Amino acid sequence: MAHANDILLTQAPHFYDDVCSFVDQAAQYTNHDKGLLNQIKACNSVYRFQFPIRRGNSFEIIHAWRVEHSHHMSPTKGGIRYSEMVNEDEVMALAALMTYKCAIVNVPFGGAKGGIKINPKDYTVAELENITRRYTVELIKKNFIGPGIDVPAPDYGSGEREMSWIADTYLTMNPGQLDALGCVTGKPIALHGIAGRREATGRGVAYAVRECVSVAEDMKALGLTPGLAGKKVIVQGLGNVGYHTAKFLIEFGAIIVGFCEYEGAIYNPDGLDLDEVFNHRKSTGSILGYAKAKKEFKNSSEGLEQDCDVLVPAALENQITEANIANIKAKIIAEGANGPTTPAAAAEFIKQGGIIIPDMYANAGGVTVSYFEWLKNLSHVAFGRMGRRYDENSNINIMNLIESTTGTTLSLEQRLLVAKGATELELVNSGLEDTMIRSYHEIREIKMTKGIDSLRTAAFVGAVDKIAISYMNMGIWP
Ligand code: NAD
Repeated sequence: MAHANDILLTQAPHFYDDVCSFVDQAAQYTNHDKGLLNQIKACNSVYRFQFPIRRGNSFEIIHAWRVEHSHHMSPTKGGIRYSEMVNEDEVMALAALMTYKCAIVNVPFGGAKGGIKINPKDYTVAELENITRRYTVELIKKNFIGPGIDVPAPDYGSGEREMSWIADTYLTMNPGQLDALGCVTGKPIALHGIAGRREATGRGVAYAVRECVSVAEDMKALGLTPGLAGKKVIVQGLGNVGYHTAKFLIEFGAIIVGFCEYEGAIYNPDGLDLDEVFNHRKSTGSILGYAKAKKEFKNSSEGLEQDCDVLVPAALENQITEANIANIKAKIIAEGANGPTTPAAAAEFIKQGGIIIPDMYANAGGVTVSYFEWLKNLSHVAFGRMGRRYDENSNINIMNLIESTTGTTLSLEQRLLVAKGATELELVNSGLEDTMIRSYHEIREIKMTKGIDSLRTAAFVGAVDKIAISYMNMGIWP
């Protein structure tokens, strides 16, 4: 009879190797010691465990992982995936990607990831709570969670509800620990989460696209005009990342001409109304049948191949492959999802002159705002609380002074525009925007100065350099 653990070891491991090979590719553009590079690639701690839960009159074994990839910064950080497909190789790969992602956007964490091998849809809410709390206790027992140790977050299959259970379990087991709420991010606002976290990843993807198309020289090479106004975009996935990416791209002037979901795709070269499409899907259960679509496809992947300037895969991994890359019309692929383009397809796209905005940068908005949430939890005060009223009054005083010394009278609209202090949401969005803008140009600068062909390799070069410096500063690598 097969041992229970055999199911965990049967899948061909390659995702983690793929991530390591990205580092190897980037390493050609650096002078780091081979041993140091090996340390950077390695997963420092891999905790595989299992625990029983009771279901009715019987027991079931739940398989789970927590991987801390790199301790060059503390705490480590990364989501917990609830999926029956999750396996050790995948958790290791995603933990490693978190390390590089954090380095790229200058978020001072090492990378980590967790996995619970279940399909959440097969369990009641009470069972999910039981599993999540027990998973948290197992992490506490082995010192794999804590505001200064390892800080989980939501990932595929988990959300604010699960993060609340984790926070509550950690608080219960650590009474009196002042910073305990910083043990997990992605919490609901009522439980010391942060404004803007839910939409942060999609907002970040939209900033990334906006930055990319703002570079006149790069757009000229693609035969496009600079700027987002009028750019045609196809989005795959109407979930958290896809919906919010579309929402903010529209706000910035782009037109969404296509949506692809697992049941099919719709297209209209004149533009689609995001909320109408979203509500149509919600009420009918399908994206198909939306009256204002000019074309619809039962085969969802055909939707990716329609005419557009920018394609945003924001659903799953391995969506753009050698099988369909030649049919993709977009000039820019912005990876909202993790790993949507296979390495071979990416190489082909770049050879044809296209730009890929890589996942590890494009979807880093989520971890950036998680960092802000963690800071809020450590400081025990909401952003803007101390200064908002003071700023507002200062601005009013300045306006009064201008009016009295110049004799002009500002309109009510002008006064309202200036006389305000920033809310938490405004500060979060401003910090996120700044992060995405700076990081894009940092990556592009590396690409240009080192003559690298892809933004992904350039992003890895930047990340590896920063991690190497941390290790050297720690004195581990004199
Ligand atoms: P989600 O579950 O909210 O949305 C995913 C959407 O994709 C769903 O609407 C689903 O129906 C759709 N989908 C599934 N299979 C599809 C298919 N074959 N074709 C088209 N659509 C399909 O998930 P999410 O949080 O939006 O995450 C999407 C991706 O973004 C994942 O790769 C995730 O790892 C990545 N990501 C998410 C975040 C975040 O903050 N949520 C952060 C970083 C990266």
